[in-house]
Amino acid sequence: MVKETPFVPVNVKCPFCETESTHRYIKSRMFQPDLLEEDTHVVTYKWENPEFAQVRPNLYHIWHCPACHFCDEKETFRGEDKSSGKLELIKEKLLIHSRMPKSMISRMGGAIDFSHDNYSMESAILAHLLAIYEQELLSPSMRQHAKLARFYLRLAWLYREKAALELPEEAVPAGFESFAAFLQSFKAEWPGIPVEEGPALDVAMARYQDILNFSSGADLKYEINIMNLLIAILRRNRRNAEALKMLRAVFSAATKARQIARAAIQKGVNAVQQQNLLNFAAGVIEKTTELAEQLGDIVFNEELPAAKEAVLKMGPVDAKTVVAKLRELKFADITCRRLGKMFEKQAMKK
Ligand SMILES: [Zn+2]
Repeated sequence: MVKETPFVPVNVKCPFCETESTHRYIKSRMFQPDLLEEDTHVVTYKWENPEFAQVRPNLYHIWHCPACHFCDEKETFRGEDKSSGKLELIKEKLLIHSRMPKSMISRMGGAIDFSHDNYSMESAILAHLLAIYEQELLSPSMRQHAKLARFYLRLAWLYREKAALELPEEAVPAGFESFAAFLQSFKAEWPGIPVEEGPALDVAMARYQDILNFSSGADLKYEINIMNLLIAILRRNRRNAEALKMLRAVFSAATKARQIARAAIQKGVNAVQQQNLLNFAAGVIEKTTELAEQLGDIVFNEELPAAKEAVLKMGPVDAKTVVAKLRELKFADITCRRLGKMFEKQAMKK
């Protein structure tokens, strides 16, 4: 009897160097997310066959060409990526780098071993780093922002899994004490290389912000989903004041979406689609209002001691000045307003 396996090996030609090699993906019906974290990281899966519980699907997300070290998602290897112009630009640069044995791409790619079913965490991390590095060979305005943001977030998840599972290092390249030391050796060529979860998450957030900055405003639902993801990441890292600020942006985007949907429904344009947008916006507004209240209290309590101290240092001032000065000191809006009110009440008692 053939042993059951969750992996599907496929032979695919590299879209860059045209070398054929074997890649793997996991049959999607074999597992479902079980426990999820705020930033959509899946901690545990429910497997149809419990024997596969040790398999970590996140390790299989990026494919690697062992010949030229091109790394990307399976869709790109299969020619389903629609940004072929951008890929052509990466190809030109990558093929030069990969021919030089001492280049970072050759050294990093040479340490990836995806030749058997069980991918190591180290190889998966290197494949993600390479996929990122190769995207960043393009000038910032040419990059695929959504892809880059996703790769950084996924890289952060791998570092998190590596730390949480305390996995023994399987693949430390010769001449290095640890995998971390190997990663550190790339700092000269890639000064910003994220080698742990925190820095990877920071860049992921910046890249998601890029998507918002570069977006045309035509797809409010997409933008709201990105903002909600950013809020989740910020909250996970206890950056509550920033999360609260972004909640306000979500609120105004959802309000705008609601207006657009209502106007379109009145005119009878795309009624079903617009009703869906209207329902989505209404749900977002309700959730956002609730979360803003909770988060407002949290931020206010966090900032209160420092804000009180700042007010004491101001000397004799009126409530308006208190609010203005606290704003100057970059306290959250909620803190400024609430302290202003407290100050007003106290002044009236005197
Ligand atoms: Zn290749």
